[in-house]
Amino acid sequence: MSALYGGIEAGGTKFICAIGTGPNDIRSEKIIQTTTPDETISHVITFFQKQLEMHDIAALGIGSFGPLDADPYSPTYGSITSTPKKGWVNTDFVGTIHQVLDLPIGFDTDVNVAALGERMWGAAKGLDNFIYLTVGTGIGGGGLVNGQSIRGMMHPEMGHIRIPHDLKKDSFKGICPYHVDCLEGLASGPAIEKRWGSPPEELPKGHKAWKLEADYLALAIVNYIAITSPKCVIIGGGVMNQQQLFPMIRERVKELLNNYIQTTEVIDHIDTYITPPALGERSGILGAIALARKMVDS
Ligand SMILES: [Zn+2]
Repeated sequence: MSALYGGIEAGGTKFICAIGTGPNDIRSEKIIQTTTPDETISHVITFFQKQLEMHDIAALGIGSFGPLDADPYSPTYGSITSTPKKGWVNTDFVGTIHQVLDLPIGFDTDVNVAALGERMWGAAKGLDNFIYLTVGTGIGGGGLVNGQSIRGMMHPEMGHIRIPHDLKKDSFKGICPYHVDCLEGLASGPAIEKRWGSPPEELPKGHKAWKLEADYLALAIVNYIAITSPKCVIIGGGVMNQQQLFPMIRERVKELLNNYIQTTEVIDHIDTYITPPALGERSGILGAIALARKMVDS
């Protein structure tokens, strides 16, 4: 019996738990509503205990909402730390699971983990340097540099960068509780809803909201390009279901780079350079399986 891998995509509204080996081989999957840490994590443990009665599971990968501590040398490794999510501040996520399940556990941000899924099976196959951005309830970004998930003092917070905010063009103040008009404060789903009075999915495709949104995202992306030199920029999340954003973002990124960066990715292949995730909404859970595989391979 060959071993399977476990994955957890831990989100603010739901947790997805699965076991399998990849996109075409998911043996079991369960959605658990995110309530209190005690309740949610105990349902997660029960799912994997049941699976372990039937299967050999080699490792578990977790991609989680945060902020979190993914530094294996830190005393609080495996915790969700200063999250705005009520009740989850300083939750020892990995430790609680480890107490019951004797498995190697990999733990990283939802975006870094989704990036691993896209690298193994999706839009960034084989790439060592790329960005994975998600634009939804919040804006988060991760990815790989030199083949390693981006991590340092903590993890990147790409959604909270400062971008030019021309109040004459956009008088909306912004909604980030920490920075007001950072990228997330101006361009997340809730920011769009507050600015225009309708949730993103109800705004018509031709609404001027999308040009502004594409502009903000393009400004952020040119900063990421300048700093980490990604070979690909994957953008997922609920807001990006508005497919009309992609051509607008690509065009604006080219305009803003202004021929300064002369790579074939940008000049000749912008359509695949800035791209939706090939795994769609499955990047997160498949990335968690990819992380578990990495735990065993490395
Ligand atoms: Zn912010």
